[in-house]
Amino acid sequence: MSRIPADYAPTIAPTEFIAPPAAGADERIDVGVLFVGGGPAGLAGAIRLAQLLESAPDVKERLGEVPIAVVEKGKYPGAHLVSGAVINPVALRKLFPDVPDARLPFRGPVTGEAVYLLTETGAIRVPTPPTMKNHGNHSASLSEVARWMAERAEAMGVMLLNETTATTLLMQDGAVHGIRSGDKGLDRDGSPMSNHEPGAEIHARATVLSEGVIGHLAQSLIAHQGLHGENPQSYSLGVKEVWEVPKPLDRVIHTVGWPLRSGRRWREFGGTFIYPMGPHQVSLGIVVGLDYADNSLSPHDLLQQLKLHPLVAGIIKGGTRHERGGGWGAKTIPEGGWYALPRRLAVPGGGSLFTGDCAGFVNVPAIKGIHYAMWSGMLAAETIFEALRAGKDPRAPGVLDGYDAAVRASFIGRDLRRVRNMRQAMNAGLVAGGAMAGLMTLTAGAFPGGRFRSEASADTSVEPGGRTYPRADGRVTFDKLSSVYASGNRTRDTQPNHLRIRTDVPEDVANAWIAMCPAAVYEWATDDAGRKVLRVNPPNCVQCGAISAKGGRFTPPEGGSGPEYTVT
Ligand SMILES: Cc1cc2nc3c(=O)[nH]c(=O)nc-3n(C[C@H](O)[C@H](O)[C@H](O)COP(=O)(O)OP(=O)(O)OC[C@H]3O[C@@H](n4cnc5c(N)ncnc54)[C@H](O)[C@@H]3O)c2cc1C
Ligand code: SF4
Repeated sequence: MSRIPADYAPTIAPTEFIAPPAAGADERIDVGVLFVGGGPAGLAGAIRLAQLLESAPDVKERLGEVPIAVVEKGKYPGAHLVSGAVINPVALRKLFPDVPDARLPFRGPVTGEAVYLLTETGAIRVPTPPTMKNHGNHSASLSEVARWMAERAEAMGVMLLNETTATTLLMQDGAVHGIRSGDKGLDRDGSPMSNHEPGAEIHARATVLSEGVIGHLAQSLIAHQGLHGENPQSYSLGVKEVWEVPKPLDRVIHTVGWPLRSGRRWREFGGTFIYPMGPHQVSLGIVVGLDYADNSLSPHDLLQQLKLHPLVAGIIKGGTRHERGGGWGAKTIPEGGWYALPRRLAVPGGGSLFTGDCAGFVNVPAIKGIHYAMWSGMLAAETIFEALRAGKDPRAPGVLDGYDAAVRASFIGRDLRRVRNMRQAMNAGLVAGGAMAGLMTLTAGAFPGGRFRSEASADTSVEPGGRTYPRADGRVTFDKLSSVYASGNRTRDTQPNHLRIRTDVPEDVANAWIAMCPAAVYEWATDDAGRKVLRVNPPNCVQCGAISAKGGRFTPPEGGSGPEYTVT
């Protein structure tokens, strides 16, 4: 029996989440330009567009009463954001040229850095690879950055629709016309409760997809329009904690090696980050490529193990995990790079653009995506503005095509091309892959030429592993349920199930999901007939997206549910 998770993917018709607009003029909400997702891409795009419209009141007037809107499924902007984060400030500086770095929402400039190769008990300092140099960058909480940006966006007249999920993309004749938002107040079986609020169609001249990694609508659109890149998209899962520490950390630290294994057989690619967040806090996380083989690998529990390593234990000694809501988080990262970008970044039929993580703009060796997300949102805004100023309808074929060329010609395209084969090279293991990555860096990506192929994360088979993890002591090491609590997750228990997975899967695949999910959503249970069954606990879900990468499908639950991150 196959142990490849993709072989058990739920059936989803390409049209399930794509429908023609149906609401009449008095039933729908009309906005000018809609950004789907209030992360760095959506907020930067909305702010840039607001700036451009300020200088062109006639264009703004033509966009109606609500020229710009952002829909965000989290309770507030940043509620669903998890990142490192060390941020390249280029995009924020361009957006806010009059704001000095000291007043941007950063926790401080990077003042030192170190990279270590970890063994189970040791740490060997290695030279910092050029891709990981962070001089000139700043540490931050992405959740805080989003709240700060959202305040500015609102002050510029952008309408923020928080607690609103985009569930369906509205398309007609190949062009995107907006979204339909999800219902609220549905019972577990989908029936309306007394507080039921039906979703609404939101129509827009242009709909910018800024949903982040494994975007529900972006994925549906890519499948519907056959826009997959040359390589399939692949993903990693990041899990992080924020610690209150008595002693400030003076440098940005990255590690490779333990607790991941370097053997090619295990396909364990990833590393850890430890970032200072001002004098009293430290951000600590692990990122693991989801194409690993070991079905007992649990990124959540590897992070617990990491905290017992002497290097890390010394940094968090005498400290406590930030437990006041949002001190723990998990999120998937797109890893496919240049060759996995959608074939076209502007939807061929018109009306929509892919920005940020939902397009896959992440430089994996550098662990950077935030400034690419912001910049792509800004380029999307500029492209749409130029079309509107020229009196063109962005929903006509070809009108927004300039965005594709603009992204590829910008530093987004340049940086991603330079590292275009680097993630794939790491499939050869840490030593051989690291050597190839070094040559790729020296030749700006030209070595050894051609395209390295890669597999989708769900297409690699899993096998029984047998890893064991430290017992949770509730002080340094934690179990998954207390981490879910620390995420501030407030999902209502009676919501309809938003996770589409098959439960009739081989035990090896189910075990992989149980171990992978950082929020204990999957577990073995016994049914009434005494059979062992895979039980799904959707309210635990922190919306990290990993199940979509590994053979299932996450669809956005009721708007406003999920984690309430504050410092991740
Ligand atoms: C552990 C980790 C560490 C990282 N470290 C760094 C780092 O140090 N530096 C760096 O530059 N990058 C880092 N990254 C990558 C970076 O965080 C992302 O590239 C970046 O956040 C992408 O921005 P985005 O706006 O495209 O998507 P997101 O940040 O994911 O934002 C998308 C938003 O859209 C909302 N949304 C999604 N779907 C819907 C929907 N259907 N309806 C309504 N709203 C929706 C989400 O709730 C979210 O608020 C890291 C990522 C992780 C996970
Ligand atoms: S069930 Fe939710 S928390 Fe668990 S892996 Fe899937 S998306 Fe992440």
